[in-house]
Amino acid sequence: MMDEQTPRRGRLEGKVALVTGSSSGIGRAIAERLAREGADVVISGSKPSDRADESAERVRAHGRRAAIVTGDVGDTETNRRLIEESVAAMGRLDILVNNAGLEIEAPFLEVTEADYDSVVNTNLKGVFFTTQAFVKHLRDAEHGGRVINMSSVHEDLPFPGFSSYCVAKGGIRMLTRNLAVELAPLGITVNGVAPGAIKTPINAALDDDPEKLRHLLGNIPLNRLGRSEDVAGVVAFLASDDADYMTGATLPVDGGLLQHYQE
Ligand code: BGC
Repeated sequence: MMDEQTPRRGRLEGKVALVTGSSSGIGRAIAERLAREGADVVISGSKPSDRADESAERVRAHGRRAAIVTGDVGDTETNRRLIEESVAAMGRLDILVNNAGLEIEAPFLEVTEADYDSVVNTNLKGVFFTTQAFVKHLRDAEHGGRVINMSSVHEDLPFPGFSSYCVAKGGIRMLTRNLAVELAPLGITVNGVAPGAIKTPINAALDDDPEKLRHLLGNIPLNRLGRSEDVAGVVAFLASDDADYMTGATLPVDGGLLQHYQE
């Protein structure tokens, strides 16, 4: 029988997770939630920062180990290094949450090659090669694992003014499905999470534009922006044994946005 002295075994006890883009926003909430459920967590951000330190502190506050790795996920050499450094710090890795992402708004005719590269390299190429390095680790370590790709409702839903972002997220949709099949023999599941409008630094501009915010809320049946914690709970589920028989799925966490149509 459990009493107050018996430590509650979390769903992720004994697991180690790397969460990219976890110095703020959704990534930080995921790191914290995975730690609360028992995982040790590697925090990753593009540069060393107080914010990354703060995320690591939040992991430690749950009595779990934390490490920090740093680098631009848009660079393939960095993707390999992030995995190597994570394994060196923690001894193993079981869960990869590909969360780092960015969006740059521009009408299609004004998208520059540099901005396109920056968005697609971070949101898609970085996921591809970070996952490749992670899977090599799992293969060599001879155990299975979990890949969770942070996508967006815009893997399906057009988003005028964000073509490069939609290209990348649409690619994530197919990458998730393709790898689910290809990596199943290695005991690796691959699932996606598709947030809608979550209040994070990525859409901070909404704070200064009440009209845009009102219009956006009109599209969301649950009539509020999402919280990072709303997304983190779903990621923890996908990382846990509760999702053992799921692979190749993308779960929308969007307050009903994708299903909504009104005249
Ligand atoms: C984007 C946000 C947008 C939301 C809903 C997300 O993927 O990052 O900027 O508000 O989708 O459209």
